[in-house]
Amino acid sequence: MPGFEKFGDAERQSVSEVLDNGVLMRYGFGPMRNGHWKAREMEQALAARMQVPHAHLVSSGTAALTVALASAGVGAADEVILPTFTFVASFEAVLALGAVPVLCDIDDTLTLCPGAVEAAIGPRTRAIMPVHMCGSMANLDALKALVEQYGLVLVEDACQAIGGTYRGKPLGSLGDVGCFSFDYVKTITCGEGGGIITHSQAIYEKAQAYSDHGHDHIGQDRGAEGHPHLGYNYRISELHAAVGLAQLRRLDDFLGIQESHYTQFRNALEGISGLEFRRVPEGGVENYSFLNVFLPDATKARKAHAALAEAGIDGVFYWYDNNWHYHRKWDHLKELKSLGALPEAAREGIQSRKHMSFEQSDHWMSRTLSILVKLSWEAGEVAARARTLREVLSRVLA
Ligand SMILES: *Cc1c(COP(=O)(O)O)cnc(C)c1O
Repeated sequence: MPGFEKFGDAERQSVSEVLDNGVLMRYGFGPMRNGHWKAREMEQALAARMQVPHAHLVSSGTAALTVALASAGVGAADEVILPTFTFVASFEAVLALGAVPVLCDIDDTLTLCPGAVEAAIGPRTRAIMPVHMCGSMANLDALKALVEQYGLVLVEDACQAIGGTYRGKPLGSLGDVGCFSFDYVKTITCGEGGGIITHSQAIYEKAQAYSDHGHDHIGQDRGAEGHPHLGYNYRISELHAAVGLAQLRRLDDFLGIQESHYTQFRNALEGISGLEFRRVPEGGVENYSFLNVFLPDATKARKAHAALAEAGIDGVFYWYDNNWHYHRKWDHLKELKSLGALPEAAREGIQSRKHMSFEQSDHWMSRTLSILVKLSWEAGEVAARARTLREVLSRVLA
């Protein structure tokens, strides 16, 4: 997945254009810029690529989630439904707004289970936030039906699935608002950065103002801008956008490489008895950043994980024991270890759910291995890895 593997001349050139004029900020300073508006250009390119009218860049994927939720109307004491398998950023963004993260089971898509989501909807639910983990997506038709039925908003976290599609549409473009991360280990990187896409002019206008102190960005004089509402600073710098713009132009090349490597792995693993592939919802196309497989049980999964590492296959993840991505290790959340006091609704909402068990999630996650697909491997290396994957997994499952 990581675009950093392909950092090169295009990125260097783009950054040096910013360094040549020294305008490191995305707004203002028109005459000094020599025509370079990297953040603006990347937004236009992102909107075009994702087939939406509006894109807005921010300082991180976590900031994108926060700004997206805020711009979609989520505020204090609102409940946001999110999956047990995600990145800690999901609940961080919710908590940043004083809202309440409500964890919800995943299914064999490794994303939100629509049935579990419906069961989690209550009078204070405001948003559903599916997270398209490891290159593939949630069942967006089912979630959109729930959003309509219950009058909620759908915020897509597509941070790990940029370039994937659902029923022919880019992931991130199907909900009310979609989010990307361009941190250092994502499919394309800014170093640090994030993006929001939406069909809604109203959400876009709120997002661009909210992420810059509430400035309306009307007119040429920044000091004279109006403030339709409060905001914070989640701005991206022009230097980061310069890297991201160069990387975005290479996105489809990167996706092609990922698909090719993924396909070789998948073909190599086809037909091993006891090994299954993660389910991709009907109408979905992955971005091929990971190949995700199920082993028969946790014991076999742990054994396979260790055996693959021993055979020199790096980049295989057993998320069940991982403390960033799966709810089992989120003690800092469950124990409310915030620096200052949390809002009462968040405190109560988390405390009251602290002992909830997620057996369906555990069932799938305890069996899941995710095999990272890298961009920089040479053809021979991919083939050798595919062979080793097959040998090791066949042996563990024999
Ligand atoms: C990386 C990631 C984020 C957060 O992005 P940052 O840019 O690191 O803040 C959010 N959600 C998911 C699923 C991610 O993988």
